[in-house]
Amino acid sequence: MTQLIPPLAQKALGDCAAPAPARVVLRERGQREVFCGLTSIMWLHRKMQDAFFLIVGSRTCAHLMQSAAGVMIFAEPRFATAIIEERDLAGMADINEELNKTVSRLLERRPEIKLLFLVGSCPSEVIKLDLGRAAERLSMTYAPRVRILNYSGSGIETTFTQGEDACLTAMVPELPATDDAGLVVVGALADVVEDQFARIFEALGIGPVHFLPSRKAGTMVPVGPNTKFLLAQPWLRDTARTLEARGATHLPALFPLGAEGTTSWLKAAADAFGVSAERFHAVTEMPRARATRALARYNDTLAGKSLFCFPDSQLEIPLARFLSRELGMTLEEVGTPYLHSVHMADELALLPADVRLSEGQDVDLQLDRCREARPDITLCGLGLANPLEDEGLTTKWSIELVFTPIQGYEQCGDLAELFARPLIRRTRLAV
Ligand code: SF4
Repeated sequence: MTQLIPPLAQKALGDCAAPAPARVVLRERGQREVFCGLTSIMWLHRKMQDAFFLIVGSRTCAHLMQSAAGVMIFAEPRFATAIIEERDLAGMADINEELNKTVSRLLERRPEIKLLFLVGSCPSEVIKLDLGRAAERLSMTYAPRVRILNYSGSGIETTFTQGEDACLTAMVPELPATDDAGLVVVGALADVVEDQFARIFEALGIGPVHFLPSRKAGTMVPVGPNTKFLLAQPWLRDTARTLEARGATHLPALFPLGAEGTTSWLKAAADAFGVSAERFHAVTEMPRARATRALARYNDTLAGKSLFCFPDSQLEIPLARFLSRELGMTLEEVGTPYLHSVHMADELALLPADVRLSEGQDVDLQLDRCREARPDITLCGLGLANPLEDEGLTTKWSIELVFTPIQGYEQCGDLAELFARPLIRRTRLAV
């Protein structure tokens, strides 16, 4: 099934100014190979240092989390699974009672927890456990010491990055109101990247700047009609909508991947806060030059190589834009699990006119297309990578791009390296 996306808005920034053509998008709704939203707890729990994620799920959910977290051993992890047993499913126990006891034990043992998320899963959804009501009830018991929120990470409703969207959406109604002007950067970023951006905003004279989620639950991120926000990640559709419902304004831009994306993203904030072109140039010139130099090192490896993206994280379109425009790669197919035509408008405008875009997945059909294209590198989930490597294709795990700091000028070289490394490895193996 195909769908036409209407012509895209013009962009007032350098190359973005050309009117974009209508694009044909291949929409597929078949079997898909992607992690559920629980997986996003892997990076959210690292970011929010006094939060805890209590998954209300099955042993399958617990296994997923253990294997996804396999490389990260904490003395006191900040997530756990409250297992719904068979007797709970059969209605033999009052599951709300069990949940009360589990939360009580947890909060007694871990007094440092300031924010507790009850995270729904497929099993809790199937038995229609009302976690919203449970969160309200428990909030009353533990207020003001601990805030308790809920969201769903179920595989029925979410793919792996949408778990973050659901989590942040649950946080927005809790944010304090303000009429003051300010900027909010929305989407979990590695601390090192957050610090770099904070320094650049300060040098530009933009402030106050808040990051959502913040490292500490007690950090207030005020929101109101004079709040402007930048999306740091492309998977935050519902969070953006909830912020807009509170009066905040989204600043459209490229996502901050690569020198071009980072410049566009910062420029959107600079324009909204009245920063002069001279000051913007003075602040960004040096880091942009460093990024360009870092990228030049990967040109020989990546220029002219072809890329095929399976839909996993929603980072695929900004990555394809970066790899094609700043490193000269060619694009066979760019798949995304969900295409937000407004948030992606600037990105889509910069993709080659003839690139095949696909939304959703019918995995067997997409595998056939990939085998036929024989791309130099395939961006895909863990489940597809090994079989494709066996068939002689070179792959890059999409989840790695979510865990690795890749945004901003200083990370441009690292981002290019993530794609160059598997190609170099394969060349060495072939010698
Ligand atoms: S939430 Fe659903 S898809 Fe995710 S691990 Fe649990 S059962 Fe599996």
